[in-house]
Amino acid sequence: MSSRHLYWSEPKRFEFVTKAKKVENDRIILEETYFHPEEGGQPADKGTLNGYEVSDVQNEGGYIVHHVSSHDIEESDEVKGKIDEGFRRYCMRAHTGAHVVFGAGREVMGKIDYSGFDIGEKKARIDFETEAHVDRKKLLKIEELCNKIILEDRLVTWNMLSREEVENSEKVAFAKEMPRGEKVRVIEIKDWDIGVCSGTHLSSTLEVGRIHILGKKKLQEGVTRINFCIGDEALRKDYGEKRSLQRASSLLETDHGNLPRKISDLLDSMEELKEEVKKIQAFRVEQRIENAKRHKRENYDLLIQTLQASTDHSDIISHKAKDNVGQDEVLVLINQDKNVSVSVGVGEEVEDVSADEIIQMLSQDFGGGGGGTSKFAQGGGFKASSEEIKYLVLDRF
Ligand SMILES: [Zn+2]
Repeated sequence: MSSRHLYWSEPKRFEFVTKAKKVENDRIILEETYFHPEEGGQPADKGTLNGYEVSDVQNEGGYIVHHVSSHDIEESDEVKGKIDEGFRRYCMRAHTGAHVVFGAGREVMGKIDYSGFDIGEKKARIDFETEAHVDRKKLLKIEELCNKIILEDRLVTWNMLSREEVENSEKVAFAKEMPRGEKVRVIEIKDWDIGVCSGTHLSSTLEVGRIHILGKKKLQEGVTRINFCIGDEALRKDYGEKRSLQRASSLLETDHGNLPRKISDLLDSMEELKEEVKKIQAFRVEQRIENAKRHKRENYDLLIQTLQASTDHSDIISHKAKDNVGQDEVLVLINQDKNVSVSVGVGEEVEDVSADEIIQMLSQDFGGGGGGTSKFAQGGGFKASSEEIKYLVLDRF
């Protein structure tokens, strides 16, 4: 009897007795096996042979090879195989779930092609070829449809069809690289999805239990990956989201239904507050400039002030230095934000000092740069503190 594909006809057989056909160190081939090898996106079954742990199952040249690192099994020995039921059921749920998701994808996005599939420890993924932009709304619609189809208890069946029949069918989804052979295996969810597949499946959508779409990732132009989890892991995700909602609702002292309105109101108030804060900060910057210390010089008054204003207020500083300087004043404003910048305004009647000259002098001593006219100049990137700049200006002018 062939040891290929018994898991196709009896995917829910988790124990069997057979004989060892070939044993080579850790590699064991059985006369027949229900173990699924790592194939078509489905991971290798876990389980034991005569109580020894099977670490891997691979399809090697058409033979299903069980890798058992430590054992005393010899050729012709009777072997009792035991498949990890929980893990196999999870794989069957994920495989059947993927067909449910593919059908939902067709409903929501129109024409799509199958581009890849994989089952991980906690989540599965399916890749679609589609021109559609898959946004959050579409993902939610896909999830809603999936769970509706699950509840409808739709029959899942499998059949062998001729390769020609599959290739000429509009309905059947298949990967570009189909399995070899005259006939290919086709899985059908009644009136929902039909696709070429070599995995193990459940016999009704109801057994999938629950699908939770985790999100999507655009792999390349025209190819989108959808990550989802299944069964109890999907329920865990549902309840995780519900707990987050509860926390948010209790923080905002409202119920789930009111959360969006409450958050929108909060965001509006926050914008208003931000504007208020900006106005208060602007007022403070202006006041500090008004209070700049006056140093009497022979032909002018030097007013100098250090500031700590954000870039939001740089226009106030420029404006003050440019337009609010008295006729016989030199106003030097040193601002420390992420970097130190300096704005200089020189009054109409001052002839001894040029604004540009002050900036050039600072650049020579502290690096950085800038420029302007004799009446208004700005500079930045100086490698010095506000205080160092202040004392240099006071010393030289
Ligand atoms: Zn499948």
